Amino acid sequence: MPKANQAIHPEVDSLSTSGPASDYDKTVEAAVERGLAGLDMETKVRLLTGINFWATYDAPQIGLRALVVSDGPAGVKGGSFVHDETTTSLPSPTALAATWDEGLIAEIGQMLAGEARRKGVDVLLGPTINLHRSPVGGRHFEQFSEDPLLTGRIAAAYVRGLQSRGVGGCPKHYVCNDSETERQSYKVDVAERPLRELYLSPFERTVVDANAWTIMSAYSGVRGTPMTENELQTDPLKTKWGFDGLVMSDWFATHTTVPTGRAGLDLIMPGPDGPWGDALLAAVRAGNVPEAAIDDKVRRLLRLAARVGALEGVAPAAPLAVPAPQAEVSALVRRVSAAGSVLLTNDGVLPLVAGDLRRLAVIGPNAAVAPSQGGGSSNLRPDYTVTPIDGLRAALPGVEILLRQIDRYRAGFQRIAADEVRLPASAGADAGKPGILVRMLDEAVPGSDATSLADGVMTENRREIRPDGRLAWGGDPRVAGRHVFEFSTTVTSPETGRHRIGLGVHGHVAVWVDGKLAYTGGVIPETDDIDVMWNGAPNQAAEVELTAGHPVEIVIRWRKWYEQNIVLVDFMIEKPVVAQETQLAEAERLAGAADAVVLMIGTTATEESEGFDRTSLSLQPAQDELVRRVAAINPRTIVVLAAGSPVLMPWRDSVAAILLTWFPGQEAGNALADMLLGHVEPGGRMPTTWPAELADVPILDTKPVDGWLHYTEGLDIGYRAWLRAEVPPAFPFGHGHGYTTWTYLDAEATTVDGSAAVKVHVRNSGSRAGREVVQLYLARLDSAVERPLLWLGGYAAVEADAGQTVEVVVPVDRWALRHWDEAIGDWAVEPGQFEIRIGRSLGDLRLAAAITVEG
Ligand code: BGC
Repeated sequence: MPKANQAIHPEVDSLSTSGPASDYDKTVEAAVERGLAGLDMETKVRLLTGINFWATYDAPQIGLRALVVSDGPAGVKGGSFVHDETTTSLPSPTALAATWDEGLIAEIGQMLAGEARRKGVDVLLGPTINLHRSPVGGRHFEQFSEDPLLTGRIAAAYVRGLQSRGVGGCPKHYVCNDSETERQSYKVDVAERPLRELYLSPFERTVVDANAWTIMSAYSGVRGTPMTENELQTDPLKTKWGFDGLVMSDWFATHTTVPTGRAGLDLIMPGPDGPWGDALLAAVRAGNVPEAAIDDKVRRLLRLAARVGALEGVAPAAPLAVPAPQAEVSALVRRVSAAGSVLLTNDGVLPLVAGDLRRLAVIGPNAAVAPSQGGGSSNLRPDYTVTPIDGLRAALPGVEILLRQIDRYRAGFQRIAADEVRLPASAGADAGKPGILVRMLDEAVPGSDATSLADGVMTENRREIRPDGRLAWGGDPRVAGRHVFEFSTTVTSPETGRHRIGLGVHGHVAVWVDGKLAYTGGVIPETDDIDVMWNGAPNQAAEVELTAGHPVEIVIRWRKWYEQNIVLVDFMIEKPVVAQETQLAEAERLAGAADAVVLMIGTTATEESEGFDRTSLSLQPAQDELVRRVAAINPRTIVVLAAGSPVLMPWRDSVAAILLTWFPGQEAGNALADMLLGHVEPGGRMPTTWPAELADVPILDTKPVDGWLHYTEGLDIGYRAWLRAEVPPAFPFGHGHGYTTWTYLDAEATTVDGSAAVKVHVRNSGSRAGREVVQLYLARLDSAVERPLLWLGGYAAVEADAGQTVEVVVPVDRWALRHWDEAIGDWAVEPGQFEIRIGRSLGDLRLAAAITVEG
């Protein structure tokens, strides 16, 4: 009989560092003290600000090499200034949480450690463990869940996996950075219980259960104090939780010297400039920041260095990862992509039977494109991508696939792809090869408008070739200061008609098409705040008539108006799209001719991104219309939704099936084929409640008022708020079908190793083997303290063959029993009876049990 699938890989488990100091810890501490003794105060202070965007200073005199960090969390971008390198692209973190599978997530962590080592990275800047307080939060796709317990367990598994292979995790952004509007400055007004029980809890878990080696402090603030100065960095983090790792700032988040120097912040990123350095040294010398505070910060840096193998004389905390062979990595990404995909509805159309299919229509804006990712610092360049159409074609050799070519092109501007750009004659020997020639120019007389970009005298001081429209230099000292950047390439479009080509950027821009000036314009934002610089940038473009297959030469100049050593510009193209009615008619025609339709829809990085919150949960209206029209023609319409965050699906009851793949990562097409054809079950369960209507959403408030965000909902976020409001969502927390059905037979309270648990018998009542996530929700009647109506109390997965009855023992998670007692300023467990509801999701509870907790 299969057992409850609770096990985390044994080598990962053994990493737990609770208990008395191990011999290894003693060796580390001795090396840290030796290192500290070998440094003067000037060097100590210098070590506490990065040397550049992604690395720290070294100190060869004590055998310390520089540490390299990298974003995270859906892959490892690498620590170089230009993010030209490619990397493994995972599904969005929402998908990772939707697996409810800590063993698998630990494996992902281990694989990421291999990736990190491949790129010389010591610390991966992730996971992002702020909560899904509101579905409009811009980084929702990058976070795990609305529930602190699920977030904490998945996060701890991720960190354990990474660190078990010698690469540091960096849970971020500590704390209450749950939305993006004015994120550099807002302060959160939050009561003690929600702060402890919801927002701090996942961080606590990554420290207490996974011994995270670093934590990233947020841009935003809690209760009037920016997080980089906030006492929460010390208490409870370093006191109660015993965090012995390093707190680093979010990028450019630190604005003061003494308050941050005295606080628990240990490392300012990025560098080399910043408010510490000489100013902190002076503050120490003046007695405004104690030397002991500096020593504590340096100790933490050295301890981290020792753990990742960057301090001579100490072995890393775990054998360093070696990158796994590509085939293994691909297989793992493919597996997790399916394991996290949620089958939201299915009238029986899935899985498709390949033998019954003659013609399959694949329609929609995501049919033939590389899958989307969310925008912002997590967005990366995948090693490769398997598009949905490629995956389906490979899996269905005998089936005619009807694809609408026009579906390659989404409406609106898209970043130009590598296969659309070739180097111009001015690139010399490289002319004709894929890429964009970038020249950095200096103006003889600094200009102040777009016209002078065209007329001014300029000298070239640097040139390089970039592979595609992602023009990013993060922290490259060579781009510091005010320069003009010129981007030249030839663009060949597969479409005939009106295009728009230009840059997604603020500031002044001039665009030449085949040598003729075709656009000048631009505005300079009043601030050099990085969020404003990069996010929601306007597309400044020239209109140009193109003939399919005929190249046109494009030269664009942009003036950098700020000093910082960062450039983040996108080279954008808008292609003509066939009139909506023509598209719909063609889609209907194909739908009518096919045995089934796979309708590929979703959102993109321009809708879901770091740096701004969403204002709507609707898909582009054309996509809703496409679904309605196609579903009306073909009753076997399967909607495949690629979105990292909740979207509204007003048509959800009129399609045969909805499969939510999230942003699926580089194996998208293969995983899709695996699931649609039933080679694997979509294994995901909703980590967050999805609404039917925007108006039903309990918390939409992410816009600070006078700099404040008031978390007035207290403990009631996510499903807790939905239950309170008694409004049914479209898809409840925990929801997800597989390809079989389950009967819940009985449940009985029991104990495992002295801790409460529930023994549940379930029968696979369907016709194929499957995996079920058995979920426990707790309730407390007549509680002396305020509580949610129900809250997640534990879960465990079980596998069974068709017809088989299995027993699964689900531990009641000890974190779910405690509440923060404000009177004593500590955790407490209320004695008495906890009711337990057991089921497939919060919307499908089948059994009940109870446990009694002693006082
Ligand atoms: C983000 C962090 C990220 C950092 C470095 C910041 O803007 O908030 O999550 O790790 O940039 O890219």
